Amino acid sequence: MTDLKSLTFTQLAELVKSIGWESYRSQQIYTWIWQKGINDIDLMTNLAKSKREQLACDCFISSLHLIDTKQAKDRARKFLFRLHDQHKIETVFIPETDRKTVCVSTQVGCALGCKICHTAQIGFIRNLKFHEIADQILQVQLLTGERISNVVFMGMGEPFLNYAECLKAIENLNSDFGLNIGARRITVSTSGIVERIYDFADFPLQAKLAISLNAATDQLRNELMPINKKYPLSEIIKAVRYYIEKKKKRVTFEYVLIKGINDRAQDVRALTKLLYGIACKINLIPFNPCPHTKYQSPTLPEMEAFAEKLYPQLPAVTIRKSRGQEILAACGQLAAQ
Ligand code: SF4
Repeated sequence: MTDLKSLTFTQLAELVKSIGWESYRSQQIYTWIWQKGINDIDLMTNLAKSKREQLACDCFISSLHLIDTKQAKDRARKFLFRLHDQHKIETVFIPETDRKTVCVSTQVGCALGCKICHTAQIGFIRNLKFHEIADQILQVQLLTGERISNVVFMGMGEPFLNYAECLKAIENLNSDFGLNIGARRITVSTSGIVERIYDFADFPLQAKLAISLNAATDQLRNELMPINKKYPLSEIIKAVRYYIEKKKKRVTFEYVLIKGINDRAQDVRALTKLLYGIACKINLIPFNPCPHTKYQSPTLPEMEAFAEKLYPQLPAVTIRKSRGQEILAACGQLAAQ
C-alpha cells in the first residue's frame, strides 16, 4: 500500500500518470491531503466514485496521532504526536497577533548532546520523513483552527543532519498545492553543520537561516555544544558569510542566555568581536530550566542589561520571551517525560 501523504508533488504526479489519469488529478489529490487535511480517500468528492475506489485499493493517507497537548497561559501550545512506529515527537504552536508560528521537530531525539537541551537526553532514534515534518503543521492547523503563517525548524533534532527530508518539507510547505507558506516565512535553525550551511545558501528557495550559537568562544561552546569541536566558530562564521553573500539576507543568531555561564562581561566582548560587521540579528532567549540541568535562567532585567551592552556594536538584538514555561516548552521535555 502506498501512503499518498509520503509522496512529493512530483511523485504523486508520476503515480497519477502511471494509472492513466489526467495530470490535473495530482493537484486535486495533493490539495485534498495538504490543504483540506483529509485522511479518507472517499472524501475526495471531485474524483468519481470509481476513481476513489481504484485509488483506495492500493493507497491510503497516513496521519500523525495526537497523544497529548498542553496549553500555557500565554496561549503557546505544545503537542505530543505519535508516529506510525510508536515513536513520539513534539510540536509547538506559538500564536501572536501578527503571526501564527509552528516549531517543528525534524528527528526523533538528537545525537548532538547539547547541554542546554532536553532532547539530547533522549539520544538519536531516527530521522523524520518529509511528510512527518510537514504533517506537524497540517495537524496544528486542523487542531487549532488557525492558519499557520510561519514555520521554524527548531524543535527536536538537528535539521541539517536530516537535510534532504527537510528540503522536501520546505518545498511542500511552499507549494501552491501544499501548505502554501511563503519561503521567507520559513526558518531553519542549525547548531552549525557547516557543509549544509553552504548547501542551504545554494538552495533556490528563500528560506531563512538561524544559527543556534549560545557561546562566542570555542572553549565555552565546546562545553555547551559538543558539535563545536567538529565545526568550530571560525568555520561557521565563514559559512554564514557565504550564505549572506549568496542570499543577500541577514542571518539570525540564537543565543540562549544562561545565568553566570554565557552572560558575563567577557561574553559580551567575545560576542561583539565574533559578530561585528556581519549582517545579522541576535535573538536572546532565556534558558528554559528543565529537570537534570544545573543551569539557571537569567531574569528579564539581566537579559536587558546584556542586550544593552551589545547594543553599540550589535544593534539588532531582540529578547525573545520564553513561551509556555509551565507546559515545559523547551524542546524535548514533553517527549522525554
Ligand atoms: S539543541 Fe538542537 S542540536 Fe542540540 S541536542 Fe537539542 S535538538 Fe539537538
